[in-house]
Amino acid sequence: MKLRQLLCMCSAAAVFAMSAPAGFSKVEKVPFGAAGGTAVDLYVLTNAGGMTAKVMTYGATLTELDTPDRDGKLGDVVLGFDSLEGYLQKVPYFGATVGRVGNRIARGQFSLNGHTYQLATNDGPNHLHGGRKGFDKRVWTAEVLPGAAASVRFTYLSADGEEGYPGNCTVAVTYTLTDSNELRLDYVVSTDKDTPANVTNHSYFNLGGAENGSILDQEVMLNADRFTPVDATLIPTGELRSVVGTPMDFRTPTAVGAHLREVGGMPVGYDHNFVLNGGGGTLAPVATVHDPKSGRLMVVTSTEPGVQFYSGNFLDGTFTGKKGVAYRQYYGLCLETQHFPDSVNHPNFPSYVVKAGETYRSTTVYAFSAR
Ligand code: BGC
Repeated sequence: MKLRQLLCMCSAAAVFAMSAPAGFSKVEKVPFGAAGGTAVDLYVLTNAGGMTAKVMTYGATLTELDTPDRDGKLGDVVLGFDSLEGYLQKVPYFGATVGRVGNRIARGQFSLNGHTYQLATNDGPNHLHGGRKGFDKRVWTAEVLPGAAASVRFTYLSADGEEGYPGNCTVAVTYTLTDSNELRLDYVVSTDKDTPANVTNHSYFNLGGAENGSILDQEVMLNADRFTPVDATLIPTGELRSVVGTPMDFRTPTAVGAHLREVGGMPVGYDHNFVLNGGGGTLAPVATVHDPKSGRLMVVTSTEPGVQFYSGNFLDGTFTGKKGVAYRQYYGLCLETQHFPDSVNHPNFPSYVVKAGETYRSTTVYAFSAR
């Protein structure tokens, strides 16, 4: 979006929280177009230090995240588009909230309570990220929450049978930007029939700046001694394998590109679920990412037991994003905190089945600093 256009929209924007002078957090609501005839709004969260997160109601999608480098200069660290139109193309989930079940379900099939369900197979033979029209392509309802930090809750009701899943499933994701430069995502899922649910965020991070190019020199640390090996269609075999002596060993900070060629795959790169040492349940270390050039550091913690580390292997220049940059292979990396892929077909994996009448809660925090 051109600066003039943005300023114009901002003057028409509703400003929530305090009528914020600099040094206070605030939330602004900006009209952002329409999807299938439904109005879409963009919420601009700003903290006391000037860090900004922009989230739109289409897909409860993080469209922009401006964090300081080591000189205090703000830069946008997530891939995406300047306008809604970009996101309405068939895009690979830039910044989106994905579900009902994020990641893959083998052949789109599972059995639950004696019933076999067949979901859409939208990724080769498998089901991916909730199907043809998952949570990422829905318009969510938003509500600004009171409190000291800038916070917006996005809610969506996924009807019984939607995309083949059982149960009316209510999902909420609250984005909170704290004054200590943390972006906190709190998920709450409830249902009236037992259903699998694995909701996550699909941001592509590039700590050098979304327009920076490759992430291969950025250093990643993953708090995982084990990962879940996959077959040729990226479905876990069921094994939990040690990372020792493999290119999956990120126990100490390692450049993404250091062992990427050894990973293989079509296309080559990381697209694997790591078994977090914390085991899920409590907020525990997941990953750190450091960009040696800008100094930006991101520390991820989560209550989830796993994380899909995806190095942007399928990006091929098809999509031209913010600042006119064509997103090529390895231009962004995803850290999708989650339950393990295809868990519904692996009794040895932690279950993501949410029982009727129960509520599932999960939290992931992305903390930003620079050094
Ligand atoms: C998957 C990748 C996929 C990407 C975009 C990731 O979560 O693991 O295989 O290409 O999402 O759809």
